[in-house]
Amino acid sequence: MDHFQIKNGILHAEDVPLTRIADEVGTPVYVYSRATLERHAQVFREGIAPVGRSHIAFAIKANPNRAVLRVLAKQGYGADVVSGGEISRAISAGMKPEDVVFSGVGKTRAELEQALDVGIGQFNIELEEEGVVLAQIAASKGKTAVATLRVNPDVDAGTHAKISTGKKENKFGVAIDLAPGIFDRLANLPGLSMQGVALHIGSQLFDLDPLEAAYGRIGQLVGDLRGMGHKIERVDLGGGLGVPYKAEENPPSPADYGQMVARATEGWDVTLMFEPGRVIVGNAGVLLTKVIWIKPGVIRPYVIVDAAMNDLARPAMYDAWHDFAAVQPTGERMNANIAGPVCESGDTFAMGRDIDAVASGDLAVFRTAGAYGATMASTYNSRPLVPEVMVDGDQYAVVADRIAAETILDAERIPDWLA
Ligand SMILES: *Cc1c(COP(=O)(O)O)cnc(C)c1O
Repeated sequence: MDHFQIKNGILHAEDVPLTRIADEVGTPVYVYSRATLERHAQVFREGIAPVGRSHIAFAIKANPNRAVLRVLAKQGYGADVVSGGEISRAISAGMKPEDVVFSGVGKTRAELEQALDVGIGQFNIELEEEGVVLAQIAASKGKTAVATLRVNPDVDAGTHAKISTGKKENKFGVAIDLAPGIFDRLANLPGLSMQGVALHIGSQLFDLDPLEAAYGRIGQLVGDLRGMGHKIERVDLGGGLGVPYKAEENPPSPADYGQMVARATEGWDVTLMFEPGRVIVGNAGVLLTKVIWIKPGVIRPYVIVDAAMNDLARPAMYDAWHDFAAVQPTGERMNANIAGPVCESGDTFAMGRDIDAVASGDLAVFRTAGAYGATMASTYNSRPLVPEVMVDGDQYAVVADRIAAETILDAERIPDWLA
């Protein structure tokens, strides 16, 4: 459920008509609903209630806007981060360092130092050498890094290849058959407290079976590690729950997921760590755009909108579907292609789509744009960086400015030797 509904013929975010935001902020612009974010945070927490001891770290790569993070911090969420920049964001938004989990296959030494200095709660180690270096840096600072070993369980998550992370040929985690040996060696290093294992098999998952299979393998590994004399206190189950991008789609709910997890992890006696991203923010945001032209096409018209692949990369990157809806629908429909202004054929949001009829100057939204939307934006084609707005009841705020093409130009130099 979300709070983007038609009232008096105009699509609203909560109680704010999107026409008002378009007038006052301009388009394209991302619009988030605070009430939807809070509801999703609560539904996820209630969904996993049956599992017992748990900790939720929002995967902030899905939406790192500081206002979004502040809403989730107020809900008691920590953060799953994948860079030094994300560590700074999580802390600056009010998340407690001890509630931050540091994931990622390419943490640099500088990032490991930064994370130790701010005192983050858990490192998810991706390879043995990373663990050795982390132990050295921690020991040299007189600290102990709490860590898990990320394992690649070799399951096919049944999702798009570019967001599948748990097959043995993917770059993430250590092969599950090598995990006991690596864990054992790392556990003996001063500066490192190896407390468990972690996994994350992919994103936009619609089938719980691959997750359950992966959790089964991890359960076995936990038993093996305990058999070797290791204390296993936490298991990080990652994120990955899918969201409906089309009205008729029906992914597993957080409650379905929680029941599966409770069953799959029964008797583990650990704190379970969760890293949801998309499921919290996906349907809490839309990308508001304006139709520039209706361009006649050979087979059907092109609706040319002022949002483009640099603002919302998912269709170009993953062939992703985003529902398109008029802000002031007339009830008429049309069949059209939808594309942005960028000079790439890939800058196409939909082909042959049955949509609300729109004309030049009309406002429309791409729905379910709260996850992996603004955060992937670029300034390709020297377009401005897209701004973000958060709505709260009948008020809204610009929570990220539009960065003008001129401002970006100011950061570039022509060296003297080219004068
Ligand atoms: C991306 C990512 C997540 C979040 O995935 P979602 O599909 O958005 O829930 C969680 N954990 C790790 C390690 C990730 O890389």
